[in-house]
Amino acid sequence: MRLPAIAVKRSTLLKLRRYTASLLVLAVLFGTAIGIAPQTASARTVDEIVGDINELNTQVRNLDAKIQELESQISEKQGEIRTLKNDVALLNTEIDKLDLEIENTQKKILRAEAEIEKATIGIRTKEKEILDSKEALGELIREINEADHVNPFEILIAGKSFSEILNSFEHVQTIQKKVQESLDTIQQLKLDLEAKRLVLEDQRNESVKLRSQLEGQHAALQSKRAEKDQLIKETKNEEANYKKLLAQTEDLQEQAVADIRDLEKELASKSGGSSNAVPAGKGILLMPTDGVITQGYGKTEYSEGGAYGGANHNGVDIANSLGTNIYSAADGVVAATGSLGGVAYGEWVGVHHPSLGLWTLYGHMLSSNEVSAGQSVVRGEGIGHMGSTGYSTGSHLHFMVCLDFYTTQKPYGLLPYCNHVNPLNYL
Ligand SMILES: [Zn+2]
Repeated sequence: MRLPAIAVKRSTLLKLRRYTASLLVLAVLFGTAIGIAPQTASARTVDEIVGDINELNTQVRNLDAKIQELESQISEKQGEIRTLKNDVALLNTEIDKLDLEIENTQKKILRAEAEIEKATIGIRTKEKEILDSKEALGELIREINEADHVNPFEILIAGKSFSEILNSFEHVQTIQKKVQESLDTIQQLKLDLEAKRLVLEDQRNESVKLRSQLEGQHAALQSKRAEKDQLIKETKNEEANYKKLLAQTEDLQEQAVADIRDLEKELASKSGGSSNAVPAGKGILLMPTDGVITQGYGKTEYSEGGAYGGANHNGVDIANSLGTNIYSAADGVVAATGSLGGVAYGEWVGVHHPSLGLWTLYGHMLSSNEVSAGQSVVRGEGIGHMGSTGYSTGSHLHFMVCLDFYTTQKPYGLLPYCNHVNPLNYL
């Protein structure tokens, strides 16, 4: 395990001011009070720097919450857009169905009109036939009337037999009867056609009514679809705005994290020279546990492989089985304890040894609860048990010796920092 790289750099104040300005913009956007008062230049104390780091860490956490909020707003908008698109698809299906119904109704209307036209022509034909029949009938009646006025003796004189005359009358009467019958038939056919035309006209009128209803529905659906399309447009705009805001917030957070890193470097540079530590020497510190040293301090095969992001190993690893006792390496006071979950040192304990001007740090423990900050411990006193918490691949103790010691509150827990030296020079 390692502590964050320690290097000397002092360009933080300018950045802090720039960052504060950005935070103010964000504060206006979100209506929350975030911001950090930049310190005046030159000699800032370690406490001031640590204070700034802690404040920035708080802001990073606040920005995290904002980012989560924005992300959930974006996914909410995306859900709304999906729903709206589904609605539009359903409306399209309904509109297509109505289009088809309107087309079919239109065809029905045209067919009915054609049949009405046919019936009308039929009726006109029948009317003409009736007229013709009536004329023929009139002719016959005239002929009969004329015959009535002829004196039978004149006919006899004309050389026609009486029976011939009778026959001729009968013949005319038969024809008259037939013509009358045919006229009745034609009149009935005409009446039938007129009745049929009425039915067809009813049908056509029904279809026209239906068509206008369907067209009304069609128009309503189209305006509904237009509304939905407009909503989709608006929601997409909102989504885009949230995304813009998210990108800005993420930039700010990145900037804050970078600033924290710079402050930590400044902190490290502060603590470098002013150590009151005793000179290194064998036996100054007690071996804090029983086990095998599996990784030394500094450049190691493991650190060269990039295990610590290019940094050196900042302590020594002593491996043994889970639960092996861990002892305080010297008399002192517990400076702090922390639980970092699966990150960094996991469960850790830091002990201050004032008489030596040193701090020792014990990482990856089973639990950090066996001692608490402010508690006095003596050399060889049990302070916990070996574990594999944090950034660890197996049961071991990560043991560090430090010339100073600070903690900063991270989103995942209290993280210790120190200006570390090779523990093996003190064991
Ligand atoms: Zn380690």
